Amino acid sequence: MQQVQRVNEAREPDALMIGVDVGGTKIAAGIVDTNGQVEGRIQIPTDTSDVEHTLQSIACAIRSTLEAAGTPLARVKAVGLGIPGMVDPEQGVCLLSVNLGWQNVAVQRWLEQELGVPCAIDNDVSAATLGESIYGAGKGLQNMVYLSLGTGVAARAIIDGWLYRGAHGMAGEIGHLVVMPDGPVCRCGARGCLEALAAGPALALAAQNAIAEGKATQLQTYQRQHEIIRSEHIFAAASANDALSLQILREAGEHIAYGIYLLVMTFDPQLVVIGGGLAIEQSPLLIAIQARIAHLLGQSPVGRAMLSTEAIQVTNMQRDAAIVGAAALVAQDKRKKQGACAYEQYRTINYFYPRWL
Ligand SMILES: [Zn+2]
Repeated sequence: MQQVQRVNEAREPDALMIGVDVGGTKIAAGIVDTNGQVEGRIQIPTDTSDVEHTLQSIACAIRSTLEAAGTPLARVKAVGLGIPGMVDPEQGVCLLSVNLGWQNVAVQRWLEQELGVPCAIDNDVSAATLGESIYGAGKGLQNMVYLSLGTGVAARAIIDGWLYRGAHGMAGEIGHLVVMPDGPVCRCGARGCLEALAAGPALALAAQNAIAEGKATQLQTYQRQHEIIRSEHIFAAASANDALSLQILREAGEHIAYGIYLLVMTFDPQLVVIGGGLAIEQSPLLIAIQARIAHLLGQSPVGRAMLSTEAIQVTNMQRDAAIVGAAALVAQDKRKKQGACAYEQYRTINYFYPRWL
């Protein structure tokens, strides 16, 4: 009871933050209140022509969000950024981002000088995991895993109420788990990574290869219209019973299921939340994932004791998870700097915005 009172006292209803999900092609941003509600959502293309232009894109997304919501910058207490790549959140530096073409970019310092507002950064999947843990399906759970399926495949875990980063902030990068030793080459250079078999571009490549081999499919329609086949075309064709598309999604789902099973055995989560562009409820991909997991659990009493198929859910936050999670980074970062991580009451399950906000 005492704890609940303390949490309520710490809330300041007017504290607004901006969360930014920086992608290689798009930047999504929104104003986030203390309840995780997002206003003024916008999405703009990412200018990756050079570092300065990309940083300017981020600043532009933030200003456009404020404009869309009619909120002055003065009301914003902090900005959080989720960045696709390896990030040092303590120093506020993006160490490496292949998608953005960044190496050792001092994002936090640049943005704080540009906007005059405190800023925090972390990996984008870490941010989305935090968002799911605080406001989404993982709310109130001490142990959960978030799996992002989209242009890439990556996961992060909440362990005992804390986002687990690992030594380089990359713990959970199961996209580069080799699941087929002689499989297709991954962008990381290895062969047969989960990402090279089941991420969006991998699905599109599988479809293009099958068409080149002369397989009949509705996807040829897109080729005839001179469109590059994308994963959304495969989902659309599969829902119209296209045999090739169904097969591609089924095979990808089986590979992803093994990735999920590995996460379950590694982290023993209460819940696995699947998000990202490919996380579509009732799609053949999700059905294949569920079916393969059910099969694996059927074989293993240990697995059944640790997980049920109901404990694997699709996010209901979509892209907002990354935005609200990025905003929440600021608070988590501040709490860690205050040495708060040793105390149960500061964990994400009892999350609150600190007084300084
Ligand atoms: Zn790889």
